[in-house]
Amino acid sequence: MRNEKSRALFERAQALMPGGVNSPVRAFKAVGGTPFFVARGEGCYLWDVDGNRFVDFVCSWGPLILGHAHPEVVAAVKEAVERGTTYGAPTELEVVLAEKIQQAFPSMEMLRLVNSGTEATMSAIRAARGYTGRKKIVKFEGCYHGHADYLLVKAGSGAATFGIPDSAGIPEGTAQDTIVLPYNDIKAFKETMEAMGEEIAAVIVEPIAGNMGVVLPKPEFLSALRQQTEKHGVVLIFDEVITGFRVAYGGAQALYGIKPDMTCLGKIVGGGFPLAAYGGRKEIMQTVAPLGPVYQAGTLSGNPVAVTAGLKTIEILERDNPYPEIERRTKQLTQVISEAAREAGVPVQINQIASMFTVFFTDQPVVDYASARRSDTQRYAHFFHALLERGVYFPPSQFEATFLSTAHDDEALSFAQEAIRLAMKAIA
Ligand code: PLP
Repeated sequence: MRNEKSRALFERAQALMPGGVNSPVRAFKAVGGTPFFVARGEGCYLWDVDGNRFVDFVCSWGPLILGHAHPEVVAAVKEAVERGTTYGAPTELEVVLAEKIQQAFPSMEMLRLVNSGTEATMSAIRAARGYTGRKKIVKFEGCYHGHADYLLVKAGSGAATFGIPDSAGIPEGTAQDTIVLPYNDIKAFKETMEAMGEEIAAVIVEPIAGNMGVVLPKPEFLSALRQQTEKHGVVLIFDEVITGFRVAYGGAQALYGIKPDMTCLGKIVGGGFPLAAYGGRKEIMQTVAPLGPVYQAGTLSGNPVAVTAGLKTIEILERDNPYPEIERRTKQLTQVISEAAREAGVPVQINQIASMFTVFFTDQPVVDYASARRSDTQRYAHFFHALLERGVYFPPSQFEATFLSTAHDDEALSFAQEAIRLAMKAIA
């Protein structure tokens, strides 16, 4: 694989940007390589500046459920740009998008559009604190909710990959109101709620975890969260930044039939642009300015180009209902990975739901952060490189989700399957 141009760009980038990147997971540092610099994307493929082609199973870390440069999304965006790129004043499209989101997520009785998942979770927690008048929050080990100070505690994703789940630069006082509990541990959760439920403003959870790799909730886990938070007057926040419009049109809450008090969306809802949303019960959202005393704002919030891309993406998902087919393809692929691993004598556990999955290099089930951490991350890194060399781009870290899009067709998938078989043999 040639990478002269990427290497030269990486040199220049490292002189100016920490790690040469604008988000740590892009650095490939954990796997000791040079990241490829992208020239363009189309469908399920990415091309780098050296002319290499990759079947892309990262999908920009989740947003691209329709693949790169979907023609309908591109056409809508082109049209939108011609009408101006930002107004700082309301538009009809924002209302239409808000209505669409509300229909897909009926628990979001009112909502706000923001620019990133980090902003969505931060704002949801502020509203929950403002509404309850309480300070403490509960999060779960290995869940990642963006990079707000009080949420970077035992965090997953890049924070786990780079061994800094508790970031420097966060004053002790800021994180002391964050209680961290093991994912899927109903007993620990109930005990905490019994002991201090009345001091807790919010419980925030990835209803299906994607940031310690994919970890599914035990069936009773989410219902225990719902029951206990209701009992103690705590705001239950589902962080569906990954799962919203991904595991089902209505997200994990539709899949499991559980109604949270608040929901955070990002990634898919922006159709590949910086757009996210938070919302929930009317009485909580009515605390947000200008209706109430909780302040939250944004110069580019509800940006017309981002709204156009998000709206078009959601309209396509609603119209085409690609979910059963994309799940079938994902299952087929994970079966091939299982078989390839078995044939190569490499122990793996694959956690999969809908069009997201993670291949963990371990022989033990992965049900929480502790079990995810027992995977052989070195072997994962070798697997990643072996795939990349063969034209297949998987997430560079064990603690991330692998995604399919509607653009992953038979041709791309059989190409990937062959690469996977060879990669498994190479790392055996
Ligand atoms: N919440 C979850 C579940 C995420 O996976 C992420 C990002 O990966 C975020 C929040 C933060 O979103 P953003 O990177 O857009 O700030």
